[in-house]
Amino acid sequence: MSQYTTSSSSDVKPIQIVPKKSVLNSHGCGGDCTDHDDSQARWPRAKVLDLFNLPFNDLMWQAQQVHRQHWDANEIEHATLLSVKTGGCPEDCGYCPQSASYDTGVEASKLMSPDEVREAVIAARDAGASRFCMGAAWRAPKDRDIEKVAELIGVIKQEGLEACCTLGMLTDSQAVSLKDAGLDYYNHNLDTAPELYGDIISTRDMQDRLDTLSHVRSANIKVCSGGIVGMGETRAGRAGLIAQLANLPTFPESVPINDLVRVPGTPLADTPELDPLEFVRTIAVARITMPTARVRLSAGRQAMSDAVQAMCFLAGANSIFYGDKLLTTGNPDVARDHALLAKLGLRSGKAVTARVIAA
Ligand code: SF4
Repeated sequence: MSQYTTSSSSDVKPIQIVPKKSVLNSHGCGGDCTDHDDSQARWPRAKVLDLFNLPFNDLMWQAQQVHRQHWDANEIEHATLLSVKTGGCPEDCGYCPQSASYDTGVEASKLMSPDEVREAVIAARDAGASRFCMGAAWRAPKDRDIEKVAELIGVIKQEGLEACCTLGMLTDSQAVSLKDAGLDYYNHNLDTAPELYGDIISTRDMQDRLDTLSHVRSANIKVCSGGIVGMGETRAGRAGLIAQLANLPTFPESVPINDLVRVPGTPLADTPELDPLEFVRTIAVARITMPTARVRLSAGRQAMSDAVQAMCFLAGANSIFYGDKLLTTGNPDVARDHALLAKLGLRSGKAVTARVIAA
């Protein structure tokens, strides 16, 4: 698998990625080919790749300028994510310990009660979170599941936090029901570049994801959508993911960028680690291409040094998942986060939006 570089990036050390055969797409390009004509797009993929290929300091400078035009650079949103229904998922996402297809030791559980959720919401609010996200491991919720989740959304709103859910694929009427219940955001990640999608997940396709995002938008719910890097893709594959997000009819209000957590028992458990500087580049390119989005430093943060996290904030990340657990995988504990943010002079942001909203 080739690694993209240009003459202007000769000082950038090529990352050493040896993708598993399983992440090569059907025509074998792994996202490197130029068969994808998107020259009319808001962000043609080639232009996104050009950003990735900038000398590191130039990329960071550009990202910093965009960030400071739209956001308070010293403010970080805190979001808490709670798994309200864990495991036993019929989908086969190759990175996910909650899939019933893999033996990862995650025990399946039923949907939490309103009282259990309220306890977690109050604890999150008291610890400084402004947004509370609930994750449920469904392929697609049934209408009766939506009724129960609506009750849980009510709990979050009663406690004064923004509410976000990630429940799988939604119909248009389900999205409307969630909006009526008070939902502010719906998370549905695009996961990876379109041409790599089928190699990571076989039980749904990218169009299913786009359809759900369209239902969410039509219901007037804000969109949270990002992806996972470090799944063996090349830099061109990462550019494909960011281009797909940035070229949505309206780009997401929240963009979580995850670094693969290699969970034993999942097909991607042995994937080589992504160079941390490549992760920082991904954050910077997301910031430049989606200036008014909250770019969230998400899964994988537990394994990142303080220095790498600080570089991510410099590159334009302005949201973190906060709390001891991220669905079923670890997350830096609250005390470590407080210490890091204090060391960097960063403040907790309270659900503010960008100064300038421009598509
Ligand atoms: S990522 Fe979501 S949809 Fe995929 S297996 Fe895990 S819980 Fe299921």
